[in-house]
Amino acid sequence: MFVGHYGVSFAAKRIAPTIPLWALFIAVQLLDVIWAPLVLAGIEKVRIVPGITASNPLDLYYMPYTHSLLAALLWSGGALVVYRLLAAQDIVGRAGCVLALAVFSHWVLDLVVHRPDLPLYDNTAKVGLGLWNLPSVAFALEAALLFGGMWLYLGVARTPARPMLVFGLVMLASQACVFFGPPPVSDTAAALTALASYAAFATVVARLERPARATRRGAF
Ligand SMILES: [Zn+2]
Repeated sequence: MFVGHYGVSFAAKRIAPTIPLWALFIAVQLLDVIWAPLVLAGIEKVRIVPGITASNPLDLYYMPYTHSLLAALLWSGGALVVYRLLAAQDIVGRAGCVLALAVFSHWVLDLVVHRPDLPLYDNTAKVGLGLWNLPSVAFALEAALLFGGMWLYLGVARTPARPMLVFGLVMLASQACVFFGPPPVSDTAAALTALASYAAFATVVARLERPARATRRGAF
């Protein structure tokens, strides 16, 4: 899954408004944000196999440190610990748990779309429901999650709705390129593109949220 993960960010923001949206954007993609440099370093492995699923050509055959269930639980716990260390004492309660759940949501949503390439632990007992083999359904799910979460967020946010909706459409367009465009030229290109997308999306959402946060007293 790609932009659908951000639906969780927006929904989480409604539950825990003290967490900046950019941090929630990083949280829901944290497993991939760590996956990309591990691929670049040759520690986790992916190869491009056009047709391996109907919409995604990545053969993610070795990623025990980021996308096993055990690793996802550990990274979620790690995010909670880091948040508690960094955040002000008066806002750690529910917000820290929301952040940790946002990190873990990545694995749950990946489970829906991936072929059975998600290990439960190490590189074994792999699971995945394979929705990538139904591109139209998978794309609709990404859109529904993204805009469903955004709708929850915009219901309470002071952020202007229109720029955020335009941003959502841009994200969805990039999803369409991934699904229906040419495959990446290499594993390195796939990792770099993913990392650049996550950084760009988090930067833009921080910019979009800033006017609203500037007017709210006591924000994170
Ligand atoms: Zn992932």
